[in-house]
Amino acid sequence: MHISENVSLREHNSFGFDISAEYFFSAKSLAEIQEVLQWRQKHNKPLLVLGGGSNTVFTRNVTGLVLHVAIDELTTDENENDINVHAGAGVNWHQLVKQTVFSGQYGLENLALIPGNAGAAPIQNIGAYGKELCDNLISVDVLHRETGETATLSNKECDFGYRHSLFKTPAGADFIVLGIHMRLSPQDKPVITYQALQNAMQNTPPTACEVFDQVCRLRQSKLPDPKVIGNAGSFFKNPVIPCQQVDALRKEYPDLPVYPHSEAECKLPAAWLIDRAGWKGHRSGDVGVHSQQALVLVNHGGGNGQQIAILADEIQKDVTQRYQIHLEREPTIY
Ligand SMILES: Cc1cc2nc3c(=O)[nH]c(=O)nc-3n(C[C@H](O)[C@H](O)[C@H](O)COP(=O)(O)OP(=O)(O)OC[C@H]3O[C@@H](n4cnc5c(N)ncnc54)[C@H](O)[C@@H]3O)c2cc1C
Repeated sequence: MHISENVSLREHNSFGFDISAEYFFSAKSLAEIQEVLQWRQKHNKPLLVLGGGSNTVFTRNVTGLVLHVAIDELTTDENENDINVHAGAGVNWHQLVKQTVFSGQYGLENLALIPGNAGAAPIQNIGAYGKELCDNLISVDVLHRETGETATLSNKECDFGYRHSLFKTPAGADFIVLGIHMRLSPQDKPVITYQALQNAMQNTPPTACEVFDQVCRLRQSKLPDPKVIGNAGSFFKNPVIPCQQVDALRKEYPDLPVYPHSEAECKLPAAWLIDRAGWKGHRSGDVGVHSQQALVLVNHGGGNGQQIAILADEIQKDVTQRYQIHLEREPTIY
C-alpha cells in the first residue's frame, strides 16, 4: 500500500482550487479501505472521504488523510420485472446513467450529467428534473470509519429528503459508502412531470433515451461546465418555508415563483431570490456568481475556497435581510 504525501487536489475538486492533502490514498477495494483505515488509526490522522470532488469546497489544505473511494465494480442482476444494479462507490455517475439507459435498464435518465461518483449520490440524495436517487435506490453498503464494521442500510434507514440523508447527520457522518444498490426497470416509461423537461420534449410519450438526451441538452445550455469554469453546481438549496410566510412575501414580490412542498410548506427557487437581490453576474476578484445562473458560484481562475465562502456568506446575509429567509449551503465546505 502506497500512501502519497503532499498531493495537489486541483484535479480532485470541480472548483479547481489548488490546495493539497497531507496524505492521499485512492482505494479500489474494501480490503484497501480497511488497510488504509488501520494506518490512519495507528498514526492518529484525521480523515476526509472524497469522490469526484464536485460537491466539496476546499477552503484550506487538508491535514491528515484524503481517502479517495475508487471501487469501480458494476454488476447487474435481471429478472422479468426488475433489474437490480449494484455500483461501487467509485463508478462515475453519468457513465452509470448512460450505460444503464442505453442498455434498456430504465429509471436514472433524468439524473444524467450530474458530476461525481455513485458513492456520493446518496449523501445528498442527488436529484434533478423531477427525480431523486431515492426513487430507485434499494440500499447502501457502508463501512463505519471508527469501528470498521460493514452494514447494508435500507432506503428507509437512509432517511432521504430533499438534498438530505442520514449521512448528513451526526448519526451517519462516520459511514463510508462502499456501493449502492438500485432497482431499475425494463419498462421504458420515463417520468416527465418536471415542467421544463415536459415542455422541451418533442415526442409524447418520449423514450427514456430521448429524456436522457434532452436532460443533457438542457443541462449543457444552463449550467457552466466545471472543466471550463470551476464551480460546484447549485451552491444553495431551494428554501422550504411556511406557506403563510409566502403570502406575506408575495405582497412585496407578486412575481415570486412558488412550488408546493407539503400541506403547510412551500418551496421557493433560491436562484430567483439571489437574482432578484442583484447578485447574478457579481464578481469579487477571481470568484463570483455566474452570469446566467444565480445559484452557481464560480472560480474565474486564481480564486480560492475562502473567497467563495466569504461570497456565499454575503449572499446568505443579504437574502436573510431582504426576505427573512435563510439559504442553506449545498456543498460540503472543508
Ligand atoms: C456542474 C454541476 C452540476 C451539478 N448538478 C447537480 C444536480 O443536478 N443535482 C444534484 O443533486 N447535485 C448536483 N451537483 C452536485 C454534485 O455533482 C453531486 O452532489 C454529486 O453527487 C457529488 O459527487 P462527488 O463524487 O463529486 O462528491 P464529492 O464532492 O467528492 O463529495 C461530496 C460529499 O460526499 C462525501 N462523500 C463522497 N464520497 C463518499 C463515500 N464514498 N462515502 C462517504 N462519503 C462520501 C464527501 O465527504 C463530501 O462530504 C452538481 C455539481 C456540479 C459541479
